[in-house]
Amino acid sequence: MMNSSSRCGEMMKLFDSHCHLQDPRIHHLAPQIIRTAIESGVSHFAVNGVSEKDWSLVKKMSEDYPSSVIPCFGLHPWYILGRTPNWFNTLSDLFGSTPSATVGEIGLDKGSHGKQIDFNDQVQVFRQQLELSKELKKPASVHCVRAFGDLLEIMQGDSSLLSRISRNGSYAGEAWCLFFLFRVPTERILLESDAPDALPKSSLNLLQGEATSLQAIQSQEANILGSSNSSDQSLPKETLNQPANIRIVLRYVASMLEMPEEELAELSHRNALQLFSSYPGSKVD
Ligand SMILES: [Zn+2]
Repeated sequence: MMNSSSRCGEMMKLFDSHCHLQDPRIHHLAPQIIRTAIESGVSHFAVNGVSEKDWSLVKKMSEDYPSSVIPCFGLHPWYILGRTPNWFNTLSDLFGSTPSATVGEIGLDKGSHGKQIDFNDQVQVFRQQLELSKELKKPASVHCVRAFGDLLEIMQGDSSLLSRISRNGSYAGEAWCLFFLFRVPTERILLESDAPDALPKSSLNLLQGEATSLQAIQSQEANILGSSNSSDQSLPKETLNQPANIRIVLRYVASMLEMPEEELAELSHRNALQLFSSYPGSKVD
């Protein structure tokens, strides 16, 4: 057990293990979002692509922020319908040219949106990417909504993975993304923002009023540019999340685990460093 008093005055270091800074809703604000998060203690961002269209943006972002952005490439179940016949070769080649990358976001979804997408097709695309992550010994970030049974069936035989999923699922909720790495100890806690989605809700009463939406950033940006973009004005900024809010996730998870925030911050940061430095080509020390 660490001595929390020794941390007084030091900023807690945090690691956003899953976000989407390439998302078109926030991509133009990424420099400021990243700066804000770094100022609040976030050292790294695992930026997850979701479709062939955004993989190049993720790659570019990891080149622009070599020490803080970890690129992750994957085809998310919501976007499998738009894949090209060559998608898997493109993905494989991308890992060849970007050794620092991990796999994500991939997964299975039987939720309100996911159930509109053929599930057998989802399983096929998911399995292919999962196999690739095993082959390349890379961690994979898995999205799973109302399909845990199917996920467990696919994972059958990998006991470390099974316990990891049940642990995450018990407090992270079904819509949250899960992380796992093959052949590693099961006790891992990671923190993620999933920005720009999953803005922490004020209904988590101990967090009330603390979530920082992108509204403030957006208005500052408009001032800097001297005008505001009309398409930006129509965006529901108050619903968009950013990685700086991971401090709220930290507080929430710490309260659930009855653990001091400083201890959870240190533990989760250490776990993330270990996970994201565990494969050949990683840029994390
Ligand atoms: Zn996500």
